[in-house]
Amino acid sequence: MIIAIDGPAASGKSTLARALARRLGLTFLDTGAMYRAVTLAALERNLSPAEGAECAALAATLRLGFDPEGRVLIEGEAGEPAIRSGEVTRHVSEVAAHSGVRRALVEAQRAVAAAAVEAGGGVVAEGRDTTSVVFPEADLKVFLLASPAVRAMRRAAEEGRPELASAYEADLARRDAHDSQRADSPLLEVEDAVRLDTDTLSPEAVLDRAAALAAARRP
Ligand code: C5P
Repeated sequence: MIIAIDGPAASGKSTLARALARRLGLTFLDTGAMYRAVTLAALERNLSPAEGAECAALAATLRLGFDPEGRVLIEGEAGEPAIRSGEVTRHVSEVAAHSGVRRALVEAQRAVAAAAVEAGGGVVAEGRDTTSVVFPEADLKVFLLASPAVRAMRRAAEEGRPELASAYEADLARRDAHDSQRADSPLLEVEDAVRLDTDTLSPEAVLDRAAALAAARRP
């Protein structure tokens, strides 16, 4: 079974996807972590995030994998926490906008899903474009909504820095705009996705709704 969870930055995609994968016994596929991993590797190699061809070549050759908890491995080494640094976060949208980077990572994401399905399981994939481009044939597509203020508050609270909420709100707005306006695979709410508004639902309620939808659609 393939479940795709899409939505803007910090809308709760990871929280839902990880919990849903655990509940259903599926593999959690964090596509954002893969874009972050390529961005980190590019910065470490002193490549400019603006250089599409160089970033694409890197994405095509970098060996990415996942540990059993779904955390990204870069050439076999843990990508966390370095992939969440401020520097990576600032540059990731630019790296992710290159078509060559997207082609390489989409192919890798489909390979992870195919292997999981082949093994009798499946994936819960999260990330913008998972419903529209990576897995248009997913058994279930969910689009999470949350207002910028709530998303910024959550992210700041997660990091134990509530005072940073307004700075995060500006950063999220910038990333949303960049991700929505880019030519290749913009953030897009597809017609057949089920909308869940996380401003008004608790994480548990969102999980229960998604699990019920998944149960109804399990092939
Ligand atoms: O979800 P996360 O914040 O880790 O994603 C980091 C960035 O990676 C996003 O802001 C977006 O620019 C990019 N991304 C993407 N396509 C995906 C997942 C993430 O372009 N499927």
